[in-house]
Parts: sequence; structure tokens; C-alpha cells
Amino acid sequence: MSVSSAPETSGKPPIIWLNTLVFAITFAISAIGVPWYGITYGFSTGMIVALLGTIAFAGISITAGYHRLWAHKTYDAHWSLRILFALGGALAVQNSALHWSSDHREHHKHVDDNDHDPYSAKRGFWYSHIGWMLREYQASKYSNYDNVKDLQQDPIVMWQHRHYLLLTLITTIGWPIAIGFMLGDVWGAVLLVGFARLVINHHTTFFINSLAHIWGKQTYTDRNTARDNGFLAFLTFGEGYHNYHHIFSADYRNGIRWWHFDPTKWLIRSCSWLGLTKNLKRTNGYQIEKARLAMQFKRLQDKAPIACENTRERLHEEYDALMLRLREYYQARKQLLDTKAKALADQMHLITLAELQQKVIEMREALQTHKREFRRLMQTVMQQRSIA
Ligand SMILES: [Zn+2]
Ligand SMILES: [Zn+2]
Repeated sequence: MSVSSAPETSGKPPIIWLNTLVFAITFAISAIGVPWYGITYGFSTGMIVALLGTIAFAGISITAGYHRLWAHKTYDAHWSLRILFALGGALAVQNSALHWSSDHREHHKHVDDNDHDPYSAKRGFWYSHIGWMLREYQASKYSNYDNVKDLQQDPIVMWQHRHYLLLTLITTIGWPIAIGFMLGDVWGAVLLVGFARLVINHHTTFFINSLAHIWGKQTYTDRNTARDNGFLAFLTFGEGYHNYHHIFSADYRNGIRWWHFDPTKWLIRSCSWLGLTKNLKRTNGYQIEKARLAMQFKRLQDKAPIACENTRERLHEEYDALMLRLREYYQARKQLLDTKAKALADQMHLITLAELQQKVIEMREALQTHKREFRRLMQTVMQQRSIA
């Protein structure tokens, strides 16, 4: 959104009236006008489908385009996909991709630092959700794009940045009206696909800055406030695995397990089969497992400081042994993958490959057993602590 300001009153920076009015008016119309219209005239099934489709298009343009493509460069995308993301991003009304990415890179660089993180969660729910956009908190650095010089080389990013206001007006007004003519209900489309859709897109994205730093599990790190939350992932096209994202932000995935709800990842991966995306970056499995186990071990130590010298020593020994086994397993797995690649070109390696495959299977089983034993040991220590 662009900026317009009022003179400073009290100790706070001046209010940005354009942002405040857009948020307030769109919310009021969605909360009052949309239910009234629905009860009085009703919305057709086609209109509901148009609403859901538009939410998905604008939402995923932010998550797959603004966030994982431009802000983090986790993969490369064909120009046709970049144009779609640029249009969908304008429809989402969250400023240009250049500006959004600049803010977001600051967020990752200075996460939770109240002076430098633009939407620091340490300043509370309201501030990180929407408050940071309502006043001139960042007036001095608003047009500083030094941290997105790479994006300034992308002609599509710069085209969208230069024509952001025009593109936003065309998409947010033109699209609902076009839907309205197609379905024979212009007012219904303006209210549902125009206003309600925008409010839903806004607040679900804003949840990533607010709730995803407040509610959920710190699976991989507690060095920042980011949380993993499957329910938020459902509302945000997969961005709810935010603890993972903050520690491994170069990964194109946020939900890394097959059961994790991450449609943004599914889209990026599916597009790679069509040649529309390439160079998808993934974090090494060893790094992920190491961080997860280290966090489990740390949580145990934080919850129940172990007074008994022998128990503490045994736990540390077991932890070190598990880490060693983990590293050896991932090294063997890498060796297997390299040998597989060679074997494809040269049949001579087939015997070595079979042996290696068997070795990796055995190592994986041993690692799983070791992990289970270590967890059991941690539980026993916890129970002993709670009895004591
Ligand atoms: Zn991010
Ligand atoms: Zn964050």
C-alpha cells in the first residue's frame, strides 16, 4: 500500500490514513454488507467457487511468488509464472513484490528485534498483525531497497513495482466486476469476490507475521519466536511451518513431511515437472534431523535440570552417540545416491550398489531404534524429575 501521512500527535509516529481507511472500510463492508446481501439476495454456487478460486490465486501468488521465489530465492521460475505472481500479488494488495521482499528480508535478518524487524512479534499480536502498517514506523527507510538489488534485475518485478497502483486497481476492481458480468450478479461479486476476498487474503497472510510467531511448537529452534502450527498452515497455503522456515529459509518447502499441508510446495514441485520452475532448493536431511534432536534435548534440559551427575553424563553420551550415528547414516545415504548415479551410466557398479543399499537400510533401522531408545531415556529422566 502507498503512504500518506498526518501530522504527528502524541509520542507515536503519524497515522498512515490510506492504509488505515483501506483496512477499516474493507473490513466494515465485509462484516456488514456481505452477510446482509447474502441473507437478502443470496450468493450462487458459482460465486462461492469464484471467491475460493480468487482467494487461492492471490494467496498463493504471495506465498509461492512474493515469499518463496522473490524474498528467499528458493527456486527459479519461468517468466509466465512470474507475471501471474505479479498480477496475483497486486490483487492481494500487499504492496509491490520489491517492497514486500525488502521488508521480509529485514524480518528474517533482525527477527524479534523491536527496532529493526518491521513486524517484530515481540511488540505484540496487534503490532505484528496489522499495527506496523497503520503508522509511519518505517518512514526513514521506506524507499530503501538496498537489500533487494538482485530483484531489481528482474524486469517483471520492476514492471510490477512501477505500475503497482494501476495493476492493483485493475485487478481488485476489474476482476470482481468481470466475474459479476459472467455470473449475472455484479453487486454480489463486488461484495464477495471484491471486499470479502480481500479481507480474507489480508488477514490470513498477516497471521504468518502474528500468530505464526505466537502459537505453535518450536520444533527446530527457540532462538526466535517462530512456531510450527498445522492449523495455520491450512489457512496460509502451507506457511504455518514457520519455525522450520525461519531456521531453513533457503528451502522451497515449509512443510517437509508428506502429511504436512503445504500447497505452495506442491505447486512449485508440480510446476517443475512442466518446466515452469527449476533449481528447487532443499535443506540437507542431516541438518534438519540434527536441529530437531538438538531442540528435543535442549527442551529436556530446560524443563528438568538434571542434578544427578551420572544421569547427566549418560544422557550426554547417548546424545553424542546418536548424533554420530545420524551423521554416519546421512554420509552413507549420500554415498548410495552418488553410486546410484554412477551405476546408471556404468553397469559395473551394480554389485557395489546392492551392497550399499543393504548397508543404508540397516543403518536407517539402527538409527530409528537409537532415536526411540534416546526418547525413552529422556522420558524416564523426565518422569524421575517429576516424582522427585
Ligand atoms: Zn520468510
Ligand atoms: Zn516470521
